[in-house]
Amino acid sequence: MDKRRAIYIHIPFCKRKCNYCAFVSVCDESKQKPYIKALKNEIEKRGNGAEISTVYVGGGTPSTLYKGAITEVLNCVKNNFVLTPDCEITVEGNPDSITDDFCVECKQNGVNRISMGVQSTCNEILTTLGRIHDKTAYLCAIETVRNHGIFNISCDLIIGVPNQSREQVRADVLELINTDIPHISVYALTIEEGTPFYRDNVTVDEDLQADMYDDVFALLTKNGYNRYEVSNFAKSGFESRHNTKYWYGAIYYGFGASAHSLSDGFIRSENTSDVDDYINGITTVSSRVIPIEERKEEAIMLNLRTVYGLDINDFNVKFSCDLLRDKADEISKLKKLGLVSVKNGILSATDKGFYLLNSIITELI
Ligand code: SF4
Repeated sequence: MDKRRAIYIHIPFCKRKCNYCAFVSVCDESKQKPYIKALKNEIEKRGNGAEISTVYVGGGTPSTLYKGAITEVLNCVKNNFVLTPDCEITVEGNPDSITDDFCVECKQNGVNRISMGVQSTCNEILTTLGRIHDKTAYLCAIETVRNHGIFNISCDLIIGVPNQSREQVRADVLELINTDIPHISVYALTIEEGTPFYRDNVTVDEDLQADMYDDVFALLTKNGYNRYEVSNFAKSGFESRHNTKYWYGAIYYGFGASAHSLSDGFIRSENTSDVDDYINGITTVSSRVIPIEERKEEAIMLNLRTVYGLDINDFNVKFSCDLLRDKADEISKLKKLGLVSVKNGILSATDKGFYLLNSIITELI
């Protein structure tokens, strides 16, 4: 598993705000240039020449940036850090703004993975979500990305949207399978405070959402995609190396508004979420050493969400404990219920356990 350092860069610009979105993003294009300037200042200031093996440019919608912005940002990263020859460089985009120009710029700058917010292949659902692309835009976008020689493509889907049926979700998944993209992320809709969905008292039918997830899991696994994390499915060799680092506690540097960083000594810092403040040079707003108990809980929670599970020896060394002894009763109970297994020094959730992760985690922390 790649545990080398990572960089996350937040681009807080979108054409329009979606009804469910709680990410930090604004729709004012006039702020893009001053923002990129501030972003480069932060990267230069914090750049330390460290070796980096994954870079993730997320948002927001990076594909809405002005021409040349991706080049400016990635050049700045390369001037202040050392990217490994096998560096995974992902840029996010939406189907309506993934253009030839965007792909040319990505390719020229070594981007080798594109993550696309498809969300649904049904116009009614896209309208409910407040998306601005229609149901076929993703097909053009995938073709455009491939025409420019980038084949490591991930698409996101959302399940549990009001008025979405199981049949529709199955159709979404089959449509994506038909494109033969190697990575699909499937997120359960949650209603976040401050979003239009929250204000409109939209609710999620969690039982139906769980059934949809069952369908997704069955369809994707039958068609050669492995579930390597609760929401992430990939063909072999196309798992996101960047995301895996978050789940396994690798050091990462986050740049841009609302970005988080984890540095040596387990210090987590968080940048301001206010785009104007960020443009005006205010970056980090909080920084704290994560207490050991919190780190242990995080490790259990994040590791068990993956098929790789929790390496018991690593865990014991890192936290000076003996997990199998300290949680002997709990692990034995979970094993009897068929929710976890311990094999070759790895504690992991079973297929059944994946549905009850919250209960498992509660037992173990
Ligand atoms: S495109 Fe993505 S980041 Fe932008 S508003 Fe919609 S969900 Fe949020």
